[in-house]
Amino acid sequence: MHVRCARHARSCTGVPVKQTLPAIREPIPGPNSRALTERLRMAECPEVTDLRDPPPFWERGLGSNVFDADGNRYVDLVSSFGAACLGHAHPELAEVSAEQSGTLLHGMGDVFPTQRKLELLEALQARLPGDLGQVILSSSGSDAVESALKTAMCATGRGAFIAFEGAYHGLGFGALSVTHRRHFREPFQARLAGATHFVPYGDSSALEGLLAAGDIAAIVVEPIQGRGGLRTPPSGFLNALREAADAHGSLLIFDEVFTGWGRSGRWLCCERYGVLPDLVAIGKALGGGYPISACAGRHEVMQAWGESQGEAIHTSTHLGNPLGCALALKVIEIIERDGLLARNWELGRESLERLRSGLAGVAGVRDVRGCGLMLGVELSSAQHAYDATRRALERGWIWLPSGEHGNVIYLCPAYNIESELLQAGIEMLIDLVAAP
Ligand code: PMP
Repeated sequence: MHVRCARHARSCTGVPVKQTLPAIREPIPGPNSRALTERLRMAECPEVTDLRDPPPFWERGLGSNVFDADGNRYVDLVSSFGAACLGHAHPELAEVSAEQSGTLLHGMGDVFPTQRKLELLEALQARLPGDLGQVILSSSGSDAVESALKTAMCATGRGAFIAFEGAYHGLGFGALSVTHRRHFREPFQARLAGATHFVPYGDSSALEGLLAAGDIAAIVVEPIQGRGGLRTPPSGFLNALREAADAHGSLLIFDEVFTGWGRSGRWLCCERYGVLPDLVAIGKALGGGYPISACAGRHEVMQAWGESQGEAIHTSTHLGNPLGCALALKVIEIIERDGLLARNWELGRESLERLRSGLAGVAGVRDVRGCGLMLGVELSSAQHAYDATRRALERGWIWLPSGEHGNVIYLCPAYNIESELLQAGIEMLIDLVAAP
């Protein structure tokens, strides 16, 4: 039974609208999506969208539901790559967008700052743990990682990095230099060779030898590898990185673009592991679906950039975009008002327990893991993950395979997904994995 609050038809668990089970009226892809696919084939670079199986085109969303061009209703169990953390078309985010667009949509971030930018910077500063209080804003996750890499170079005067096998940090040239997968790197290898040492994720034994050379600016790591297959860190691993970096005058960068901003039940996932970095990259959930990201650093580390000499040496047109800042502020307000951090942790714990019990002994299941609202089911074959994902889509449930081999199904739903809906999705996942 849902108790609704009057102003925004919001239930007291923070759900903005009634979210409902899937309803597939037209077998996927329906005729409208097929027609749109043919147009897209002509208009977009062919490598961008996978059109081998024509995808359903999304038309609108509401909470954790999305609707396609043929009137089918889905449940988005990955909150659009983890970015739509308050679901789709949240009425309060829509209201703020309209208000801010009608006042000042775009500013001149590093020349004429806006109060919105300052408010967001202060809001981040107040919530980030430790001394991670100075921030560079940007638009994408990749941008935030690049801010962190450059900051580490300025602060140490060194140019090499240590990153991990399976790591995904984005595809801009700087971020790509620490992203591991061959598929992403190979065509650009001529510009990438050299500056990064990749070591196995979860293994700190190789670090000592690499750090001893004295040229490592930073170790870059996702506390939990997202696209790498929701790989959680072995006990003591993040601590070992902290100690190794400190011992050699290198910095520690946590890429929390996926894990950060509430998904783990804390603002930063590293707080769960009791280890703080020198620099952290956040994105995705920060804007609730609007592209805004941030690199936050310890005061002393950020000071290495020096005072502005007139023209910023690291900025961009949309830095501190007022609309992005207004949305990010509202996301913070809603997460706190609706107690979503604690809810994420609790809902994640229950979901993980149910996945573990439902998949215990099921053939082909290698591991079930997670932290807060990040849940992963590792299968022994990519085909098994693909089949379960495809059959789920045909029934209106959206989740994705991840991992270098595509054999890990992951869920990262919106923070305000109705718990019954998430439970129904989990039961569907168990059924489809158990009956391939
Ligand atoms: N870092 C991590 C951990 C990510 O998961 C991603 C996106 N999947 C990125 C960086 C890059 O973010 P963006 O796609 O916004 O550039």
